[in-house]
Amino acid sequence: MFEGRVYGLKRQKMYENCPHCGFKFEIEPGYFYAAMYVSYAFSVGQVLVSALITAWLTKSDSPWVYTGVLFFTILVFAPFNYRYSRLILLHYLSPKVSFNPNLAAGKEGKVV
Ligand SMILES: [Zn+2]
Repeated sequence: MFEGRVYGLKRQKMYENCPHCGFKFEIEPGYFYAAMYVSYAFSVGQVLVSALITAWLTKSDSPWVYTGVLFFTILVFAPFNYRYSRLILLHYLSPKVSFNPNLAAGKEGKVV
């Protein structure tokens, strides 16, 4: 679905159509705006967990420690969230879309 690796120096790029079955990923204009909400949920979870770990490890009550950790966490997880929010949106939150494992394996299969 995506070109290249999650973490790398190259700009994030997503294929417009599936290389296996030709499925157009952006079903309708602005479809991936909805992935923003998934990504937001990811970020909240990641930030909460890293804040709790920071509190547990450092026992700090300085807001700057948490602000730094928060920015770092968001930056580190941004490429991951970008990809997985779109994957989850397509895979679980779009009932019209279904996955055909035969096509992913490169075998003959019917387009669902
Ligand atoms: Zn496909």
